[in-house]
Amino acid sequence: MTEPVRSCAVCRSALERDEAVRIVLDPEGAPAIDWRGKLPGRGASCCHSKACLQALSKRGALSRAFKQEVSAPSEDWPMPELLEHSRKRQRELIGLASRAGELKSGGNVVERLLGKGWVDYLVKSSDVGPSVASQWNERATRGSLQLLASLLDSQQLGGALGKEAPRSVLGVRRGPLARSLLQELKRGQALI
Ligand SMILES: [Zn+2]
Repeated sequence: MTEPVRSCAVCRSALERDEAVRIVLDPEGAPAIDWRGKLPGRGASCCHSKACLQALSKRGALSRAFKQEVSAPSEDWPMPELLEHSRKRQRELIGLASRAGELKSGGNVVERLLGKGWVDYLVKSSDVGPSVASQWNERATRGSLQLLASLLDSQQLGGALGKEAPRSVLGVRRGPLARSLLQELKRGQALI
């Protein structure tokens, strides 16, 4: 069975189901995010990218897509909701990956694990300073590893790991939770 091709309400690109944000109208006619992509009724799709999502509530894109007057709750809707959702998912997945032994934190620990080839990708906090960020960037390049920016700041990263102390870098090894986290980090990065 082939899925009908959806196109972005803003830029008109053809979208696959899992790379789109689906919007439906609630009974009052207000737009809502269809998180699982399964709500019935007419839907509109949008690229999961900052540029298209920021334009979605402007210039009548929603009204055109639904062929009726649709007013969004705010000019930047649905960005705040998507960012909050992704932050929450990142927090959960970081906690789970840590408990499953797929993730370690702290500069020295991560540096040591990099030396052992344990690390598959690196994560930095949203508030890491430019000089520390460039050190880790260089370290990632040297090891041919990806360095992803989390939506969480170092205090929140520490919190996700159940620690009082802030954490500005994480090392993640291969595993099922690490794979889900990588996906969520990429979705988060597309929003910033
Ligand atoms: Zn688009």
